[in-house]
Amino acid sequence: MSKKIEHIMVIGAGQMGAGIAQVAAMSGFTVTLHDVKMAMAEKGIEGIRKRLERDVEKERISESDLARFMRQIQPSDQIGNAEKADLIIEAAVENMEVKKNIFAQLDGVAQKHTVLATNTSSLPITELAAATKRPEKVIGMHFMNPVPVMKLVEVIRGLQTSDATFKTVETVAKAMKKTSVEVNDFPGFVSNRVLMPMINEAIFTVYEGVATPEDVDQVMKLGMNHPMGPLTLADFIGLDTCLYIMEVLHDGFGDDKYRPCPLLRKYVNAGWLGKKSGRGFYTYD
Ligand code: NAD
Repeated sequence: MSKKIEHIMVIGAGQMGAGIAQVAAMSGFTVTLHDVKMAMAEKGIEGIRKRLERDVEKERISESDLARFMRQIQPSDQIGNAEKADLIIEAAVENMEVKKNIFAQLDGVAQKHTVLATNTSSLPITELAAATKRPEKVIGMHFMNPVPVMKLVEVIRGLQTSDATFKTVETVAKAMKKTSVEVNDFPGFVSNRVLMPMINEAIFTVYEGVATPEDVDQVMKLGMNHPMGPLTLADFIGLDTCLYIMEVLHDGFGDDKYRPCPLLRKYVNAGWLGKKSGRGFYTYD
């Protein structure tokens, strides 16, 4: 039988890592939030505190809940802390070399039973698993943004992922009150293989002068009942991330139907990355 998961380490304290750490702490797990610098890990924890303070104001949780959740989370800048964890969820930058390096280090430090999961949006789990000596314990655990709000976790099995590892991650996702969906390791998994070509096609309609961004978004909101238009969503995700995922699909399948729209490339080259840079298909204060 697999060991019960009590201590979760999250690698990368950015928007996804901090969100995962928050939900893990709120679900009763002991959490280590790790980043390359202590200041970054602490910034991630401060962001969690601010979000929880808003929850107290809105009477979703009590002051004592807030204090209890915050006590569950410790910052870290030492990868050696991985030896305490039963499950490690990596949410560092979307870059294969960086992630392989992290997985090889974790493999050397973590206990034998520890499961290594990645929150990658698009990179192959099987290749990442090969950077370790425990490929059966490597799995994709793809949370959606913002993590405290979105219900889905896409659980991705690599070629060698064991049933026990899958079961462990499914149980943790359930404890976090998420619904997991099992998918196999193909470029973009399910979520981004379906979503990104739609966003890319929406960009093509603007590029070809079929309609303005506002009108494309309006069609998808009012006509298809999407809560947010695809171009607004692209700005929220980050246009650089959208381009990166289209390239993963294009390279992975070798099919031109996944070619990134030249307008997307142009915006990214101009530094128009969406909401985070103040300008994408829309402008932001
Ligand atoms: P982010 O840029 O907000 O955060 C990344 C963090 O990782 C930063 O704090 C950075 O300092 C840290 N980091 C970089 N290298 C590291 C290392 N070697 N060790 C430890 N920490 C390191 O990025 P994000 O949006 O939180 O994305 C993180 C991951 O989650 C990516 O793989 C991304 O594809 C995936 N993801 C993102 C979204 C989204 O909507 N943003 C959704 C699902 C999955």
